[in-house]
Amino acid sequence: MARSFAETFQKYAENDKVPVSSLKELIRSLFSDPSEESVNKVCECVTLSKNGHLSSDDFKLIWENFIQVLIKPVSAFVIVDVQNDFISGSLALSSCPAKEDGAEVVPVINKLLDDVVFDYVFYTYDWHPHNHISFHSNLKTYKDTLLRPTPDQWESVCMFDRVQFDGRPPLEQTMWPDHCIQGSEGSKLHKDLKVIEGGLEVYKGFNPCIDSYSAFWDNGEVTSTGLLDELKSRNVTDVYVCGLATDICVNFTATHACKHNFRVVLVEDACRGVDLSAISETKQKLNDLGAIIRTSDTIAPLVKGEEFPMELGLVAAENFRRKFANMST
Ligand SMILES: [Zn+2]
Repeated sequence: MARSFAETFQKYAENDKVPVSSLKELIRSLFSDPSEESVNKVCECVTLSKNGHLSSDDFKLIWENFIQVLIKPVSAFVIVDVQNDFISGSLALSSCPAKEDGAEVVPVINKLLDDVVFDYVFYTYDWHPHNHISFHSNLKTYKDTLLRPTPDQWESVCMFDRVQFDGRPPLEQTMWPDHCIQGSEGSKLHKDLKVIEGGLEVYKGFNPCIDSYSAFWDNGEVTSTGLLDELKSRNVTDVYVCGLATDICVNFTATHACKHNFRVVLVEDACRGVDLSAISETKQKLNDLGAIIRTSDTIAPLVKGEEFPMELGLVAAENFRRKFANMST
């Protein structure tokens, strides 16, 4: 499909006055069964010209900055927190409400690493100092910064309760058991997870005073882990997210990836979560943000730029608009 599209596109690009309706026809042919509304939206985003025609320069810009993203995406596979403590340790998902088995993601992720050639692979680590604010065992240390409940009620707070700490900004915090303490057995990746050569590591939650569910930012969105810069410097367009736990760290990581305008794919069978209703809310929210939810056996054609889901096309089109809107003629 990409080749015949490229040929047609080339023919148009040689003509200096192509009506916008022809571009619309091209876009319609590129996506499978697109709605008229989404075709119009894509067309609107990538058409800078306001006179009803496109010049060969307009086509060149669209080719290089929109079509190329579709047919030559740059992919990053972000494997979130596949660490012992979430699988068999102090915060094992099997003891959480959904009773899921975190180890089940390992063979799914390993198969993806074997079968699909991602441009980059990132392994994230929840990486806490022993005095971390998220640990229920440390509540006494941080009790004076409690906003809810009040500091004198700190002893009534139970494991898994949600409290609020003062700070800039004040933040909700769930009280967790000690987990993923830097360098501990529980902080290690599951022993069977394939660690590929050239894989990159991202550490989060290392500041004792603030938690970090996302692999991009801490929960106050104050300090970056460096992942965003790593992705941008490699011109990554597409972020595939998987790991533990679907409704917490995978959720926050994928949400930030959407907010930073990456095209985001949640690999749902390579994730396990804490709570079933929160897992389905996460998927709904990510859909609303423009991400797509796919199973691992459908990932390869996306990574190779052989399949163009309209949702990801829309994100690429919006990025084009953001980049070039002030160039409209
Ligand atoms: Zn943690």
